[in-house]
Amino acid sequence: MSSHLREAAAAAREVAYAPYSGYMVGAAVLGSNGLVYAGCNVENPSYGLSICAERSSVFRMVSDGCNEATACAIATANGAPPCGACLQVLSEFASDSPQFKILMVDEVGRVDEKTLANLFPGGFRLRASS
Ligand code: ZN
Repeated sequence: MSSHLREAAAAAREVAYAPYSGYMVGAAVLGSNGLVYAGCNVENPSYGLSICAERSSVFRMVSDGCNEATACAIATANGAPPCGACLQVLSEFASDSPQFKILMVDEVGRVDEKTLANLFPGGFRLRASS
């Protein structure tokens, strides 16, 4: 399944709308319902309105009625990890959060696999966990 997820992220990267930064990103999350939801970054000349690929993919999943992801793949030129905002959003919907896998793929296909806990150990919560 991880190859399918990586391919979905790479395909989403192809349609990224990034005329301002030129930094095209695709992401795909695997929903607990077994479906893959892909998204790309969508930029705007009012830069703060732009959205990252990772959040695009999560919001597609939630809009489809699925509130739990089991893994995420991200395709970029350089295999970069998600930004902090996207890690926070992923932490809200990640199943088995400490072991949630994030696959970062660069444009020649190299894969760096980390867990959400590796990349984002202290996510924001409204209440302290018990
Ligand atoms: Zn982001």
